[in-house]
Amino acid sequence: MRILALLDGTLADPEVPLLRSDDLGVQRGDGIFETILAVDGNPREIEAHLDRLERSARLMELSLPERASWHRAVRTVLAEWPWDSEPESAIKLVCTRGLDGGDGTPTAFVSGQSLSAELMRKRAEGISVVTLERGIDPGMMERAPWLLLSAKTLSYAVNMAALREAERRGADEVVFTATDGSLLEGPTSNVVLAEGGRLATPPPSSGILRGTTQGALFRAAEETGWSTAVEPIAAERLWHADGVWLASSIRKITQVHTVDGTSVATDPGLHERICKLYESQY
Ligand code: PLP
Repeated sequence: MRILALLDGTLADPEVPLLRSDDLGVQRGDGIFETILAVDGNPREIEAHLDRLERSARLMELSLPERASWHRAVRTVLAEWPWDSEPESAIKLVCTRGLDGGDGTPTAFVSGQSLSAELMRKRAEGISVVTLERGIDPGMMERAPWLLLSAKTLSYAVNMAALREAERRGADEVVFTATDGSLLEGPTSNVVLAEGGRLATPPPSSGILRGTTQGALFRAAEETGWSTAVEPIAAERLWHADGVWLASSIRKITQVHTVDGTSVATDPGLHERICKLYESQY
């Protein structure tokens, strides 16, 4: 299922081409996006996603349509989605720099898409990951803002190549590491560790995205007395943690059972508690 809406709130035919061949989003990946999970008509963390979209636009010096128009297009998609037969939808917000040599008017649209059976299986069964070098050090984001390290740009070719490398190595997913051996994030997710009643995740200052899903989980955890930490995490901590998860809007909180071919701690009771904490926010 695919539903497509434009920012004036009208529907468009998802089978009909929408972009021109000289759109800079197509030509250079010069644009930004967000993916929001909607469940039973409720778009989760939409304001946090729009905050991040605006932040990405600022970092890219990209002119972004106003917030109300994103809300309007999301409402159009939500109104068309068949919630009774498909209770979850991936709502994608896309904005490119517009036409090559144009006047800077962005190209923008919102689509709703079905979640794959593969994703559902991974949510239920957990995943194996490999650690792969990202080639950046934790101070890079501040030193080299032109690398757009914390912007959610359309340039995801490297992230997708890392996933293919994981597949070659027989794993489902990737956790990137920095040059100092600390954990960064997955190609489309944040990494979360549970260690003795404490949840930890690497800091956005290391050049990773501030995750809306990780944020919701930590908010819920703090409300129920867990301590949480956003701090540099040495990769070795993966081996000693009580549990490791990849968090993102669409995958929710997916448990990691294997890292670099070796099993890591998994506790079904703990996994259930973590998932319930996240769901408690909705
Ligand atoms: N990090 C990267 C690189 C991502 O692409 C994503 C989401 O796709 C995330 C982290 C997780 O962000 P969120 O929980 O807001 O979906």
